[in-house]
Amino acid sequence: MEDSRKILENYFGYDEFREGQEAIIENILQGRDSIGIMPTGAGKSICYQVPAMMLKGVTVVISPLISLMKDQVQSLIQADIPSAFINSSLSAEGYDDVFRRAKSGDFKILYVAPERLSAPDWQKLTETLEISMVTVDEAHCISQWGQDFRPSYTDIPDFINGLEERPVVSAFTATATARVRDDIERQLALENPFTMLTGFDRPNLYYEVRKPKNKLSELMKLLSSRKDRSGIIYCSTRKNVEEVCEALIGSGYDATRYHAGLSDRERRANQEDFQYDRKSVMVATNAFGMGIDKSDVGFVIHYNMPKNPESYYQEAGRAGRDGSPADCILLYSGQDVRTNQFLIEKSLESNPDLSPAVRASLMKKDMELLARMTFYATTTDCLRGYILKYFGEKAEIYCGNCGSCNTEFEEVDVTIESQKIISCIVRMANWDQTYGRAYGKNMIADVLRGSSAEKVLQAGFDRLSTYGIMEDVPKKRIIEIIDCLNRKGFIRITEDKYPVVGLTPKYKEIIGGETSLTIKLPKIEERKEVIPAHKKAEEGPTSTELFGRLKILRRELADAAGVPAFVIFSDATLRDMCRILPRNEEEFLEVSGVGTAKLERYGKAFIAAIAEPIA
Ligand code: ADP
Ligand code: ZN
Repeated sequence: MEDSRKILENYFGYDEFREGQEAIIENILQGRDSIGIMPTGAGKSICYQVPAMMLKGVTVVISPLISLMKDQVQSLIQADIPSAFINSSLSAEGYDDVFRRAKSGDFKILYVAPERLSAPDWQKLTETLEISMVTVDEAHCISQWGQDFRPSYTDIPDFINGLEERPVVSAFTATATARVRDDIERQLALENPFTMLTGFDRPNLYYEVRKPKNKLSELMKLLSSRKDRSGIIYCSTRKNVEEVCEALIGSGYDATRYHAGLSDRERRANQEDFQYDRKSVMVATNAFGMGIDKSDVGFVIHYNMPKNPESYYQEAGRAGRDGSPADCILLYSGQDVRTNQFLIEKSLESNPDLSPAVRASLMKKDMELLARMTFYATTTDCLRGYILKYFGEKAEIYCGNCGSCNTEFEEVDVTIESQKIISCIVRMANWDQTYGRAYGKNMIADVLRGSSAEKVLQAGFDRLSTYGIMEDVPKKRIIEIIDCLNRKGFIRITEDKYPVVGLTPKYKEIIGGETSLTIKLPKIEERKEVIPAHKKAEEGPTSTELFGRLKILRRELADAAGVPAFVIFSDATLRDMCRILPRNEEEFLEVSGVGTAKLERYGKAFIAAIAEPIA
């Protein structure tokens, strides 16, 4: 497809399509609905922006992120692509102006917030527009099974159906389990869509989970070996952000903070400090990240466990976007589970748009996702494998680049122990005539170890034949085996506030000796300190002096144009300039990310800066 490549070159300044882009564009141009499921940073925007330039009329892009919309439109305008956005941040005059210009066919791309779709003036406007494509960004928001359900997204099908002629529909998301994918297809009523699923694996990211007694001192330890890189520390609450940030500053780190409780001004200033490397550590809640484009983040440490694997993978995925090795480390404690349960309950209760039935089903789903996240934090299997399987991809048993694959494990046969544990569960359940009573893991382990704790004796469990039959096994190991039995489906642990252990029909296979059970258990207690990812594969020297100067120039130009710096050029583009060292316009056009519009706007200034002798 010759023409789409030309658009990519002229407007966006890239020579080659990335994986998946060309196929989606081709299908869209042939009028086929398309779904793109690609990880963050893969380049989803190009997939609809390029065909938008080639189709007649206008493409309507529905996006939930108001702040990102503005950046996108600014970037497009910088590349001479006529576009605008319609959302609640527009003034009355701005609104009128966009509507007037849209009517006269000025735009190729029009971003719209989902809440606007049902507004009468928008519906009237659409009657006068020639809409060739509707693009749904962050398409998982339409699914109640997604991590980010937005009720306003359910207006999209009506909007599309209400159009005089059905446009081609394209949908994009970074995270979608099979269930969410089906939902997107069904709810948007896509017609035999072309689906592009590019790999989710990010091989340059190292994953690890730690369960430290003291999170703060563990964090300090991690940071002290990563002083030369910038990174993000995610906390679950504003209070944690404040405490951690203060502690880091007290220990001499140049840390800054970000959460929804700060003023707009401070948030913007702190984000910029981080973006421009004036501060190297960002301590933040999950409010931080949407729309940041810092590609050289060397580590993302989660001080608390997020509420689901989608959030974790998205947040951790902000590390190493430039492809260099980076670390994603989760500091886990049991308290994190309870905090998340509380936060989920609170957020659902405070949402007035939900009917009780919807609320109950969302609650069930959120708790399920939390359990899946907790599995990640507690598994001894390959962490990368766990994530990939969660998103429906195949994975090797060992990836060789995660905390589980790094530690030494031994395969232990625990069939006998499992039989003891299960018969103890059976006996406890049938004690005192109330058949089927269930208890927590700790209680079960206590009985097996012959504990003389009051609650054990009071229940009379010291009279069970299984009392004390595992007295020489550490409690931790008993619990590890119980967790393993749960993962393999022989028993079931509930997901409420006080989880209890129940039996599944499969338990008989263990008791009857039909199945033997082995689990992988860590050989050593203390883990060796991991070497920071970037030290393992030292990157080549970059011209830091020139890179720094170009960054300053970029900032001046951005300030003058009133746009964020990455709208002018991305870090990757500046780095490519340092590599190519263009001396004239022709060579400047070779830089990745430089198209004709940007050449005209900024070519001279950057060529001059590159020609300057090193100070
Ligand atoms: P996503 O929405 O998938 O997270 P973006 O659309 O924001 O990703 O793209 C991420 C970055 O990759 C942007 O800086 C974009 O300009 C760049 N990019 C996209 N496509 C290409 C390409 N074909 N060649 C080089 N860079 C690209
Ligand atoms: Zn692994």
